[in-house]
Amino acid sequence: MNEEGLTRTAILRLAGLAAASFGVGSWQAEKAEGGGPAAVESGAVSCVLTPELTEGPYYIAGEKLRRNITDGHSGTPLILRLAVVDGSTCKPIRGAAVDIWHADAAGNYSGFGAGSGNRTFMRGIQRTDANGIATFRTVYPGWYQGRTVHIHVKVHVRGNVVHTGQLFFADALTDRVYRNTPYSKRPRRTTRNTSDSIFVNGGRKSLLAVRHRSAGGYLGRITMGVYRS
Ligand code: FE
Repeated sequence: MNEEGLTRTAILRLAGLAAASFGVGSWQAEKAEGGGPAAVESGAVSCVLTPELTEGPYYIAGEKLRRNITDGHSGTPLILRLAVVDGSTCKPIRGAAVDIWHADAAGNYSGFGAGSGNRTFMRGIQRTDANGIATFRTVYPGWYQGRTVHIHVKVHVRGNVVHTGQLFFADALTDRVYRNTPYSKRPRRTTRNTSDSIFVNGGRKSLLAVRHRSAGGYLGRITMGVYRS
């Protein structure tokens, strides 16, 4: 199945300018006063509202509550720090359940296709801490036919889904990572960000800020501004 066929109109609820901004310290509480969507649109509130992007066909509900989601699958280590803030006030949301899933280095999803015998690898849920941050240990995702490299995410607050999106990587970084095994066994990925039918609907606002870690691998961060419903 191809996610492109399931694309629904992305709802761009965003107005923030600094897509790459991250880190709880970057919000100023005083800016939250007189907040709300209008303030976000006017620029008075600077947190980023993350675009809604299609869930795609590979979601499995009820994933495990765990930080390391690799199940031992190989790949370049990737730590994710995903911050959740209230899109109206820019304040961190504590206790949100962040649910992620992505393809392994070979481009397979657990529960589907070549990964159908296993319904857990590269899937997991973490709760945000007092700073609104959920942390995962995984590996850099592989690519699959017709899509740029991405990680799916859902955010639940008190049992309600408040955000469904996808997180992306700069293509230059992916090129660098993919020169190494196991990714190099599958050269010639088909799709880059600019030609991805989902990325073009606001994916630029969902690019992870990634840095190399001295311990090896990468750390990816993003702030997701959501509306509690
Ligand atoms: Fe996908």
